[in-house]
Amino acid sequence: MRNHPGNRPYREQTVAPPGDLEWREEGGSWIFRGTCPVCAHETEKELFDLVPGTVTKGLPWGRKQPEVRRERTIDCECAITHRGAEERNGCGAGWKVRLPDEALS
Ligand SMILES: [Zn+2]
Ligand SMILES: [Zn+2]
Repeated sequence: MRNHPGNRPYREQTVAPPGDLEWREEGGSWIFRGTCPVCAHETEKELFDLVPGTVTKGLPWGRKQPEVRRERTIDCECAITHRGAEERNGCGAGWKVRLPDEALS
């Protein structure tokens, strides 16, 4: 497994989300899981700021429409250390996800 083709050098880039992207709620926060389209490793990302009940209605500075950021960027956080990644996780790829409605209620 050491030299399989998935061990490509670290490179920051934005790519299309994985086809098998899925999310689940676990321990009060949301976890996105999928196979990284770039390095083909499984990656999991926990969104700590999406603990149910913490998405408040209304913002401190009093905007009329609360804006919850529905689009998030998930970075590849696979368990493999890619070449040149140093202390960073994953291969540098990131993709945008749209949060499920349940995550915002
Ligand atoms: Zn990887
Ligand atoms: Zn990756």
